[in-house]
Amino acid sequence: ATPTALMVGIGRAASLGILIKGHDALEASGRVDTVVLDKTGTLTTGRMSVESATAYGVPEHELWRIAASVERGSEHAIARAIENAATRHVTDLLPLETFTALPGLGAEADIAAARVLIGNAELLRTRGIDITRADTDLGAAAENGRTVVLVARDGELIGAFQLADTLKPYAAETITALRSQGLHTVLLTGDSPAAGRQIADTLSIDQVHAGVMPTAKADVIRDLQAQGRRVAMVGDGINDATALATADLGLALVAGTDIALKAADIILVREDLLVVPDALTISRRTLRTIR
Ligand code: ADP
Ligand code: MG
Repeated sequence: ATPTALMVGIGRAASLGILIKGHDALEASGRVDTVVLDKTGTLTTGRMSVESATAYGVPEHELWRIAASVERGSEHAIARAIENAATRHVTDLLPLETFTALPGLGAEADIAAARVLIGNAELLRTRGIDITRADTDLGAAAENGRTVVLVARDGELIGAFQLADTLKPYAAETITALRSQGLHTVLLTGDSPAAGRQIADTLSIDQVHAGVMPTAKADVIRDLQAQGRRVAMVGDGINDATALATADLGLALVAGTDIALKAADIILVREDLLVVPDALTISRRTLRTIR
């Protein structure tokens, strides 16, 4: 009877858009007391929009030209947003001579015989660039939960963009459902502490880890486990893969990257985010019936 109940549970989950990879995933889901959620692409749509651009000491169209030229080399959601918005300001982009992605920070490139850095405040600060002119942008963005992207050319700050992401429908209901199941909720993001804090406050998420480099996401999971927590991780991106594999239970959104889907124990094929609490509920219920 037990294997039958298991098959029924897994089949029922599948009909709700929850693909459970096996018995171990069910076992793990019964023990979970903490749910860690990625921000960009998981709680938010990941389709960002540029809300403002400020140029410092250069014409604004020059800032757009430089930023969009560099972002053509990047696959980040931020890059797509800047490139799209730039089409309203410039048509002729500059050839990219070199391009290096700096995961969790931004990118570095050579264009028009100049060295360009584009990314977060931490990136520019660690390269010794004075970013005090961006204080107003950084402050405003912190208040609104926006992401700031700074641009430097040959060691000089030349501009700041403020970008907004949109919460997915049912993001708040999803967190409420998880908390009402007695689960401790944690937000994990590579974005700034200000942006992370704003989203966490809006959604009433218990704990925030922001400014986390892609390579350090798994360390956050391990730290929680070391505190005795049984951790489920929900993510979508290449930068979530090791965290998904490290967690006691990994849940990947099907719209995510292949590597995240491989690393996960449960694949969520339904569009709406409420599939997350549904997956935990149904796994636990199935587990109870087979015991
Ligand atoms: P997340 O997907 O959780 O936002 P990432 O690790 O992908 O985290 O990126 C962290 C931060 O690095 C971004 O919020 C941004 O500030 C900066 N960044 C990364 N890639 C780029 C890029 N191509 N252009 C500008 N900034 C970038
Ligand atoms: Mg993501």
